[in-house]
Amino acid sequence: MNPYVSEVLEGLKKKYYWEKEFLQAVTEVLESLNLVIEREPRYKKHRILERITEPERVVMFRVPWQDDRGEIHVNTGYRVQFNSALGPYKGGLRFHPSVTLSGLKFLGFEQIFKNSLTGLPMGGGKGGSDFNVTGKSDNEVMRFCQSFITELHRHVGPNTDVPAGDIGVGGREIGYLFGQYKKLVNRFEGWITGKGLYWGGSLIRPEATGFGAIYFAEEILKVKKESLKDKTIALSGFGNVAWGAALKATELGAKIITISGPDGFVYDKDGISGDKIKYLLTMRASGRDMVKDYADKYKAEFHSGKRPWSVKCDIAIPCAIQNELDGEDAKVLIKKGCNLVVEASNMGCTPEAVTEFAKNQVSFAPGKAANAGGVATSGLEMSQNSMRLKWEKNEVDARLKQIMVNIHANCLTASQEYDQEGNYVIGANIAGFKKVADAMIEQGLV
Ligand code: GLU
Repeated sequence: MNPYVSEVLEGLKKKYYWEKEFLQAVTEVLESLNLVIEREPRYKKHRILERITEPERVVMFRVPWQDDRGEIHVNTGYRVQFNSALGPYKGGLRFHPSVTLSGLKFLGFEQIFKNSLTGLPMGGGKGGSDFNVTGKSDNEVMRFCQSFITELHRHVGPNTDVPAGDIGVGGREIGYLFGQYKKLVNRFEGWITGKGLYWGGSLIRPEATGFGAIYFAEEILKVKKESLKDKTIALSGFGNVAWGAALKATELGAKIITISGPDGFVYDKDGISGDKIKYLLTMRASGRDMVKDYADKYKAEFHSGKRPWSVKCDIAIPCAIQNELDGEDAKVLIKKGCNLVVEASNMGCTPEAVTEFAKNQVSFAPGKAANAGGVATSGLEMSQNSMRLKWEKNEVDARLKQIMVNIHANCLTASQEYDQEGNYVIGANIAGFKKVADAMIEQGLV
């Protein structure tokens, strides 16, 4: 490893030794920058690696709220404003009991490069809270969101930091956050994306992450002179991302055979298509967070407490949460003939899984490239808000597709330039990094 890269990594491992997920994400990115750092001395001269791995700002705050019985609860809220070299901080809010500062730093760090890859003017950030949405009434969720944004509103804004949804934050939560912000600042403005269609939201935003992942998969298959037609796909999750991926993949002739939730996974040998895909939305809206309901309704196989990676498939698309596919899962998938893995979740695969894919010539699309369609369409929502215009569905979809085609081409070109042709991890990290790093140099030591 390049001595500068290893010096920075060692330093971070000492300084933030308890931040496991953050260190995992940083290690992956920095290791793949070895060649760039060697060929381009300006990055060391300007100490870009130390600067890019330290958030510009972290806001951490108390979120008190009252449940329907009048009991008081306190959660922790965060916003990691990681890098604003390319534009206002941009990235989702995650409400989930597993949320920690380490997790949000990993997500915010990834977001810098993902947003850079989209080619749109967006910096990187991420936020959220350890609040568990599951089992809460609408009123409880509303009170929580109002309390959360009553603090956070002073740190965000259309030209400062533009949050969006993520796990646990969907249309309902975004509505409550937006309403309270508007009341506090007395301005109707596009400071958050994923808004409702009648109040500033963009068409295709709900589908965008899943659609984008499938467009990316199509591009990889094109290089191999293949297509999605008649391919069998295993998906995890059953939320917004899995839903969008299922819609687009089936439209392009593929067959979806699995979905999953915290309770286990469903194997539907007949394929998940048409109304069955619509039912994912019903399950999500029920707030039960269980996929067994699907198995009961459509008489499909349900595997309690298991992940879907033991099935025979051509393509695997993790759509749920970080580290949801590990080295052992990878071995099983490969043995059963899977030869393409597309991360629609952020860092869905562990480093051991990614190593297995590389060893066995399985194509692998990392999340920061493959799931960039979500935030890219958020960027398109910001553009529409700034212009006070609303684009047609086809226009947004065509722009999204072009962005995914460009990201794929840029990753591939970067992998070729650095003699790692077809390594999308290295390609995405290098292509994403260079723009941000050069912008930081051009903007001086800030
Ligand atoms: N949470 C999504 C992501 O991980 C979307 C972020 C956004 O739209 O700002 O990229």
